[in-house]
Amino acid sequence: MESIAENLAAVRAQISEACRKAGRSEHEVTLIAVSKTKSAAAVREAWEAGQREFGESYVQEFLDKQEAPELAGLPLDWHFIGHLQSNKVRQIVGKVTMVHGIDKVSTAEELSKRAAQHGIEVDFLLEVNVSRESTKYGLDPASLLQAAEACFTLPNVRLRGLMTIASPDPDAARREFSELRETLDKIRRNAPDPAQLTELSMGMSGDFEEAIQEGATMIRIGTAIFSWR
Ligand SMILES: *Cc1c(COP(=O)(O)O)cnc(C)c1O
Repeated sequence: MESIAENLAAVRAQISEACRKAGRSEHEVTLIAVSKTKSAAAVREAWEAGQREFGESYVQEFLDKQEAPELAGLPLDWHFIGHLQSNKVRQIVGKVTMVHGIDKVSTAEELSKRAAQHGIEVDFLLEVNVSRESTKYGLDPASLLQAAEACFTLPNVRLRGLMTIASPDPDAARREFSELRETLDKIRRNAPDPAQLTELSMGMSGDFEEAIQEGATMIRIGTAIFSWR
């Protein structure tokens, strides 16, 4: 079995190659190491190999890991990438760099309210169900413009872009990534501050190369880093 450091090096090399093919700079793509279900010791190992951005999906697991002795005092950035229920928002505000999985305006409103109580600004993404699978979370692409407009007026939060989980089939995934990019372009046209709407969080272990081709700015990779199970 490869070590986490070796896996990370391999993933970084694939990211560079995908960027080269897409004619993009590597600096445009942030690698988020998805550490859900993995131990704090595994996160530490990735951190020692130079990784700084981590993604977590479950609130309680995230809170426990964040306080683990292995990670005490380490400067690292947590992204909350799971589905976030409104009643859990207050538990993560102030502890995360960005919230990726907001799929209701009411959750964004709760985020805004809790951020105001902390006196901070929180960056977030709207999750879009581009594959239109009924089992998935995410806003319907058709209702997105309206949802984004409602978010623009909220204090203490900044809508920074969109997030999606694509279909398992790589060709379908690529079309969905492209649709997400086009949807972000449309939202930007109506935005009071288009310069802040720059992020496309898309691409996982199985499809990040396609996502980079289609303009991903953040890719979320778990299995390929923390080993295939
Ligand atoms: C688990 C997870 C990932 C990582 O998936 P891998 O296939 O393990 O790379 C990415 N995004 C979200 C939202 C996840 O829940």
